Amino acid sequence: MIKIILASHNVSKLAEFRSLARGYPVNILGLQDICFQQDIEETGRTFDENALIKAQAVHRVVNDVVMADDSGLCVDVLDGAPGIMSARYGGLGKGDDDKNAQLLATLEQLGDVDRAASFHCSLAVMFPDGSREIFHGTCCGTIASEPRGTNGFGYDPVFIPKGEERTLAEMSEEEKHALSHRGEAVRAFLSSFCSDAADDEGSRTFERSGPSHK
Ligand code: IMP
Repeated sequence: MIKIILASHNVSKLAEFRSLARGYPVNILGLQDICFQQDIEETGRTFDENALIKAQAVHRVVNDVVMADDSGLCVDVLDGAPGIMSARYGGLGKGDDDKNAQLLATLEQLGDVDRAASFHCSLAVMFPDGSREIFHGTCCGTIASEPRGTNGFGYDPVFIPKGEERTLAEMSEEEKHALSHRGEAVRAFLSSFCSDAADDEGSRTFERSGPSHK
């Protein structure tokens, strides 16, 4: 098993990553597992920048592969908001129910508008040799008129993926993984990483070269 540190304090995300990685020869540890308590400030202007900031902050103190995702919900009619502010929408410390209520109220005030939205995930990976790579995933859909379902986390109860009638929170974990932004990004990373690691025939140095890793 190859150890990978997930640079996130979000336990729901850690659970999703572990479940997404089932079947791959990796062991995903969270920040609590390595006693990393510091809060990482997300000062970037894009999902990519924030994902890299988080991965680099943890990479400075460990010698393992570190990954960090920055993700969020972008609503077309709100010019992409909440976007990179998804975790802080409506003010720091607001719970998921409050954020969903605020989003629905904001759209309600706009009247009969197009409710198209998409989830985005940037997954930044730092390798022990200092090289890095970013993987992406997107899930398009619409915002529901009211929250439905109890599975998942965050905006799942108000997001209906394209071609579906149920919200993400009404789907099973496997169903969400098959179409989610995070599922797409994690599969892209793990399938390339695990085949590279297998090609290393046990040397596990993860030396990287070439422009896409720098
Ligand atoms: P981050 O930790 O800065 O990446 O925050 C991402 C925020 O976006 C989360 O706290 C959620 O509010 C939202 N979010 C990201 N991915 C998902 C998802 O898969 N379902 C629901 N909400 C999500």
